[in-house]
Amino acid sequence: MLLRPQGIMIDGHLEWGLEVFIVDGEIVELRPHTGLPDDYILSPAFVNAHSHFEYRGLQGQVPVGDYWAWLRNLTELKQALSAEEVLRDCLQAAEENRRTGVAWVGEHSDRLGSAPAMVQHQLEGVIFQEVITFFEHDDPGAKLDSIRARAEQAQASGFESVVLNPHALFTVDPKTLEQIGQSHGPVSLHFAETRFERDLLEARSGPLAAFFRENEVPFPRSESMLGWLQDSGLLRPGVQLVHACDVTEDEIEVMAASGLTVAHCPRSNQALGCPAAPVFEIVRAGIAVGLGLDSAVSSGPIDMFAEMRAARAVSLERGRPLSAEQIYRMATRWGAESVPVLGPAGTFGRLGWEIFEGSTVPLIKLHLPNATDTDSVLDQGTPACVEWVAVR
Ligand SMILES: [Zn+2]
Repeated sequence: MLLRPQGIMIDGHLEWGLEVFIVDGEIVELRPHTGLPDDYILSPAFVNAHSHFEYRGLQGQVPVGDYWAWLRNLTELKQALSAEEVLRDCLQAAEENRRTGVAWVGEHSDRLGSAPAMVQHQLEGVIFQEVITFFEHDDPGAKLDSIRARAEQAQASGFESVVLNPHALFTVDPKTLEQIGQSHGPVSLHFAETRFERDLLEARSGPLAAFFRENEVPFPRSESMLGWLQDSGLLRPGVQLVHACDVTEDEIEVMAASGLTVAHCPRSNQALGCPAAPVFEIVRAGIAVGLGLDSAVSSGPIDMFAEMRAARAVSLERGRPLSAEQIYRMATRWGAESVPVLGPAGTFGRLGWEIFEGSTVPLIKLHLPNATDTDSVLDQGTPACVEWVAVR
């Protein structure tokens, strides 16, 4: 199959005058135009580095602005949904991910529904089956058994890549955290989304500390964020930190040296009043950063272009701007590297999510006749401009 687009997104840049020849889903040749091009831009499909399909149905129903109130509200509302409603919401979110050009997802899942949705909408990636044992901290055995059974049920629906995964450091008991940490498998956990985790550790104050007291849950042993990760066996390669809003430059250096990756969710962070994540510094330290659409209940509509624009705007507001090219890499190659899934020879993350000879990356066409560079792709892109290339 020969594709002769006007432009091709390579390494986040919009390159002109190239065409690709594809055999059995593999790009076998990338060469200069041999004829008149068609009017579209060819791009690697997107990677959604962090997502929660199951909350799609609650989009616009939980007031945002205050993280703690939002979380409590969401936790209450989700109880009211039936299994059929959860499945319906997951299917809708998966369909909308596909529509915005996403092919690979780091999906956090509590209740069942994500696995059949991934299968039905031809999405690949990994399902992080959320472990939450906050209330069962004394004796988490029965809760863990039920979560394990849920993961097996998810796999039974035809999606193999499901792993047991801590939701966050503060929602899982220390023993279970340690067990998962020492398993050396892929982990993706919410980390430093707010100031509240640091306040809990350093000052034993704030809403998280109050929540621990209220429920008679012992405080964590560690007094530092990275110490907490270290104690849990999670300061190592194969661990993706979701959000990483409240991290210092010193902590970023240690995160880089430890082989951690990051999922950046700028729209969710903005909506919930989280600190602006220091993504410029995280990228500069050499950490693989992906863009996460998170849940529609905090981020809003499932739209990778809106997420890229938000990443650009937030970085500008911080006075540490990221280039459109860097942000495009976050939505593609870096995103694939940031989602930890067992790769070849003990590596984590999917490598080679890029257009080059020998690549099998899924491809999309972007119908943006007025785009002249990556910035304008970000400005003008919407899910409506995406068309999938069927090569297999
Ligand atoms: Zn999340």
